[in-house]
Amino acid sequence: MAYNRLIFELSSPGRIGFELTQQGFQDGDVSTTLDASLFRDTPADLPEVSELEVVRHYTKVSQKNIGIESGFYPLGSCTMKYNPKINDEMASLDGFRLIHPLQPLSTVQPLLKLYNETATMLNEITGMKGTTLNTFAGAHGELIGLMVMKHYHELRGDYRRTKVIIPDSAHGTNPASAMMLGYETITLPSKDGLVDIDTLLPFLDDTIAGIMLTNPNTMGLFEKDILKISKAVHDVGGLLYYDGANLNPLLGIARPGDMGFDIMHMNLHKTFSTPHGGGGPGSGPVSVAAHLVDYLPSPVVTKVGEDYTLSYPEHACGQVGGFYGNFLVMIRAYSYIRTVAHDLMNVGPNAVLNANYIKESLKNDYKLVIQKPCMHEFVFSGLLDQSTGVKTLDIAKRTLDFGIHAPTIYFPLLVEQSIMIEPTEVESKETLDQFIAIFKQIAHEAKTQPDIVKTAPHSTPVGRLDEVFAARFPTLHFKALQKVEQK
Ligand SMILES: *Cc1c(COP(=O)(O)O)cnc(C)c1O
Repeated sequence: MAYNRLIFELSSPGRIGFELTQQGFQDGDVSTTLDASLFRDTPADLPEVSELEVVRHYTKVSQKNIGIESGFYPLGSCTMKYNPKINDEMASLDGFRLIHPLQPLSTVQPLLKLYNETATMLNEITGMKGTTLNTFAGAHGELIGLMVMKHYHELRGDYRRTKVIIPDSAHGTNPASAMMLGYETITLPSKDGLVDIDTLLPFLDDTIAGIMLTNPNTMGLFEKDILKISKAVHDVGGLLYYDGANLNPLLGIARPGDMGFDIMHMNLHKTFSTPHGGGGPGSGPVSVAAHLVDYLPSPVVTKVGEDYTLSYPEHACGQVGGFYGNFLVMIRAYSYIRTVAHDLMNVGPNAVLNANYIKESLKNDYKLVIQKPCMHEFVFSGLLDQSTGVKTLDIAKRTLDFGIHAPTIYFPLLVEQSIMIEPTEVESKETLDQFIAIFKQIAHEAKTQPDIVKTAPHSTPVGRLDEVFAARFPTLHFKALQKVEQK
């Protein structure tokens, strides 16, 4: 297997890229004030390479990566959309970047104002009454949202509610978050990809703390009975939790608060302009209806007269992380909402239009289990003609040969051989047409030359990997890699 040479292998003794000279340091710099015991005894084992080699090396490595900025990235349930650079620029302004969370509040008044304005805009977008930005990820938002739910029931002396209902189409983090809080989860089977009210009713009683829903759900379908569902759950004293990780299909069209949801989270790193993936910083704000505002976590940014201060309300569900969340992610969201505000009404409709365009164009080549209009994403069940044995995994691998990222595959679990496609609102008709042509070609190849598809990819640096071996025995050091090579 050929692999990219590592920066250490390019090293040649004595070669220099850039040298820090002693004269560069001045009295009072860290290097002159550090205790001598903190210095290392032997020089660090750093690669010795020229500046040009460094630049070429990292440029090459970056080009091996498929990202939204190198091509179409139709990964369903992930909202891999382009994030305008202006939002990064705003987040890198020194005034934001160089602040410290322990600075006196009098020196960060405008930033606290920004925090509150962002929360207010999110309230308006979601139809909720209170928002905390203190959470660090979507799953973290779920956990905190459910803590609010638990707090609400328990402060009323209601300890019987030990169960949370979650449809089988839900994102895996939903049951995981509920279980972390000690809830028993009930998996609700879907009917035609939707929650069926008659299936739900028998589960509803005074042991139900709430239900967690995504709407549109991960099948890309709108829960048309949402008002009936919310009434039925509220009638037995339960609360409705909305998983708003991918909020783009709703922007400008509908609000969870108006559907009867009590608690929700959003992923700023999916819908509101922070790149996600690779474990980068995220933010999963939690918004709640009026009767739950007092239970949001502290500290709460509060306006007293003309000043902003931090408060720690009595019934808050505690502090949920260091300080006030990922502040720079919030800045990107603020900047995004303000820059697209005039066009925010088109985000949802365009996301929906793009998904339906692809679905309708490919439904004679790929198996569409649910023949309804979809929202921002939809699911195929492999090829329409599966006679040559080409599987979803093969199709996904073949897309890589065309320089685009594969769709989500084998999720959601309720569809066999699932291929989940989400184009997002940012793509042009030309890009969508190109993708449709590629998927039609793959379907054609699957019929006429199935081996090309079954052995794909052919144009990537490495072909099919042994994913189980790679996960169980990761080779993370280049010397270990060389040993594997020699075998
Ligand atoms: C991405 C996602 C989550 C989890 O968000 P993280 O930030 O990865 O924790 C939860 N629910 C849905 C529907 C998602 O798409």
